[in-house]
Amino acid sequence: MKIYVESDVDTRGMRGTRVAVIGYGSQGRAHALNLKDSGFDVTVGLRPEGASWKRAEADGMKVAATDKAATGADIVAMLVPDMAQPAAYEAVSANLKPGCALLFAHGFNIHYDRIKPNPDIDVILVAPKGPGDLVRRQYEEGRGVPALMAVAQDATGRARSKALLYAHGIGGTRGGVLETTFAEETETDLFGEQAVLCGGVTELVVQGFETLVEAGYKPEIAYFECMHELKLIVDLLHEGGLAKMHEFVSENAKYGDLSRGPRVVDDHTRQRMREVLEEVRDGTFAREWAAEYEAGLPEYNAAMKKDLEHPIEKVGRDLRARMSWLKSGKQAAA
Ligand code: NAD
Ligand code: MG
Repeated sequence: MKIYVESDVDTRGMRGTRVAVIGYGSQGRAHALNLKDSGFDVTVGLRPEGASWKRAEADGMKVAATDKAATGADIVAMLVPDMAQPAAYEAVSANLKPGCALLFAHGFNIHYDRIKPNPDIDVILVAPKGPGDLVRRQYEEGRGVPALMAVAQDATGRARSKALLYAHGIGGTRGGVLETTFAEETETDLFGEQAVLCGGVTELVVQGFETLVEAGYKPEIAYFECMHELKLIVDLLHEGGLAKMHEFVSENAKYGDLSRGPRVVDDHTRQRMREVLEEVRDGTFAREWAAEYEAGLPEYNAAMKKDLEHPIEKVGRDLRARMSWLKSGKQAAA
């Protein structure tokens, strides 16, 4: 698979390219600051009453109301939460200049037809494979987080080069840019966070904890085994795959992994993963989530409350308070 790097980019169009970054959260802030430092002419578009306005100004960004920021922009980056994007698109669509590019960091609203862009504009995707604070930090250090790019609509014949230029502007070409499609990015991203990253891992941790506690072991000991030590393993996997993990864990751990792992996560789990993937692919998940959001999040809030009231949370808080090296405050999201 081709990986685009800095030398693949024609940067001549960069200076003077007007970018409106709509939203100033995790991705919005990182993109806006990086693009500005790369020489783009950036305006942040926000709701005048919103909380991000002051922050963007304090960072030295030009800020305007969402519709004003998008007026005449060459690239309009939709970086408000996915569920808020259809309304944000309504606010800007009349102001989009023909031939501009509408850019997303996740394909959700285009792939599931929740936004139907004007036919006279390009529709592109640039999705860094990391949270916004990492995208910013790596850029400041002269490095970059790898990114995906895709084109959904090419009105000008230049959609792809615009996506690559934007990816370059946020530092993506330093880490490498891989080309994908809106469908592939959206479906794999949703599946990954549901089955493996957020849904899968947390369920494995909590069920492991419950199994030990139910068998009479102390919650504190169970917490260390099932939650705390996960970081060690994840760091090894992240740095060097399965090989690096095997290099650093004990012989006991290796044999236990190879012989017991496939019994815990087995064919039944694989079948559930296939079902979850099918619901992503046929739109069931997207429809369900949009209906839940529009209903005011009743099930979501109830399930979240239950998650946060789990005994692993209480014991975790008490133990983590003793770990002075842990960063406090809001941590980066997936
Ligand atoms: P976020 O929640 O961090 O930021 C939201 C921003 O939008 C804030 O400026 C907020 O003030 C504003 N906002 C919130 N609700 C709004 C509303 N109803 N109307 C208008 N503005 C509103 O968002 P994010 O996590 O940066 O996600 C932005 C996009 O990036 C999404 O498409 C997401 O899927 C994608 N993405 C996120 C990450 C990540 O690490 N968070 C990674 C890759 C892609
Ligand atoms: Mg969970």
